[in-house]
Amino acid sequence: MGIDLTAPPTPQRRLLVAVVALAMTLVAALVFHYADGPTTYGANFRPVELAMVSVISGVTAYLLLLRFYVHRTLDDGLLSVAFAFSALMTLYRLAMLPGVLCPLDKMPAGSHLGVWTWGARLTGTALLISSAMLVKLSRWSPPLPPTSMRKAMPLVLLSPCALTAAALFLLPPWIPDLSNLVTASGNYHALAHSWISYLMFGAWVMAFSLVVIVTRLRNMLQCWLALSGYCYLLYLVIVFSSPMRLTLGWYISRFFELSSALILLSALLFEVFTVKKRLRDLYERAYETSIRDGLTGVFSRRHFDKALQLALERQSVTASPLSLLMVDIDFFKKYNDHFGHVQGDLCLQRIASSMVKQLRENDTLARYGGEEFAIILEGSSGANAALAAERIRNAVAKLAITAPPVESEAAHREVSISVGVYSHSPAEIITPEELVRRADAALYEAKRHGRDQVRIAND
Ligand code: GH3
Ligand code: MG
Ligand code: MG
Repeated sequence: MGIDLTAPPTPQRRLLVAVVALAMTLVAALVFHYADGPTTYGANFRPVELAMVSVISGVTAYLLLLRFYVHRTLDDGLLSVAFAFSALMTLYRLAMLPGVLCPLDKMPAGSHLGVWTWGARLTGTALLISSAMLVKLSRWSPPLPPTSMRKAMPLVLLSPCALTAAALFLLPPWIPDLSNLVTASGNYHALAHSWISYLMFGAWVMAFSLVVIVTRLRNMLQCWLALSGYCYLLYLVIVFSSPMRLTLGWYISRFFELSSALILLSALLFEVFTVKKRLRDLYERAYETSIRDGLTGVFSRRHFDKALQLALERQSVTASPLSLLMVDIDFFKKYNDHFGHVQGDLCLQRIASSMVKQLRENDTLARYGGEEFAIILEGSSGANAALAAERIRNAVAKLAITAPPVESEAAHREVSISVGVYSHSPAEIITPEELVRRADAALYEAKRHGRDQVRIAND
């Protein structure tokens, strides 16, 4: 089963989207009546705005392309094509602006192509977003097979270039003349009431509706995509409510266009951050599971082997004492035979957690195997380790877990442990195996002398 890394929309996040949408609607409503108001700002704002829209749309397209590469979902690929097309068309418009790459007083593309570039960009982007939504409904909705990606990736990369070339060089001669829709003084009243405006507006109404209906805003990215479309609708409403360049409405409409581009980019960047955070959490959880014993939750034998090796390496540098405790539950086979393995497991868990409570944070308690545990006490001398061992033995005794009687005793006993302690002086070089062997020898002594006791190894 795969891991779902897309952030589900929490009620708070949905509310945030709704609040942003409401705030934008309010701004648009407020501006509506003052849209014709003249401003003192110059036209230099236009190249800056176009450059920003083109860069933001380009980065958005790139992130959507990466999303397509990872998820292999065609709708992401088409969304990437939509924003790359928008970026390229804006770039062309920017280059054609008088005073950017062309003479100040002249629009080399001509008014017809100027209007067409704008209309084709907005309509084309909306149609591509709509087609991405329709793909989500079709049989192309599931992820593409990995083998198809070799063909799909170049297609997604080249389509925006082909579509831009078609929109700029193939289609214009077939389009009715648009040059009379904007006057030399910058009045575009005629444009606001022309077929191309209705086309643009219709295309964005369709795109926005399809995003909402098809996705049902199931994840945050879809919520922000819908808001981005809504922003474009407000942009068109405002731009046509003031059919004169450089008016308040004209400037505010640019703000909406920029916001729309920024909203989706921010959502995509936030998604990258969320995925990264969830991956880190998953990795940490997987790592934690891999170093723990499944039954008792203390460290695993594998982790113990590494920890002991590292502790010995640290000791050779710090020259501090190092002690190892080997712990074994007494007569545990009898306990299992008498109460069954389920009860035996429970007993192991209780003993392990009572031992953990007696240790410091940097002590390492591991299940060495079966009913045996090993404890590394870094920086503890022999005397301190003996005290710790006694404390642990007492803690287990205090659990007062009833044990079955052994042959020599008629009455029930309580479960006990035997502990072997070995403290290593930094003066001697020793292998981890030898260290375990010496602590184990002390444990054997504890068993031989009657169990339920601590024995210290003497070198
Ligand atoms: P001694 O006092 O000499 O240590 O006797 P003992 O019976 O504890 O030692 P022995 O090595 O003969 O038996 C250990 C028992 O521990 C055998 C096995 O049933 C039990 N055991 C090992 N791992 C588990 C486990 O994960 N769960 C349960 N319930 N029992 C386990
Ligand atoms: Mg044993
Ligand atoms: Mg035992």
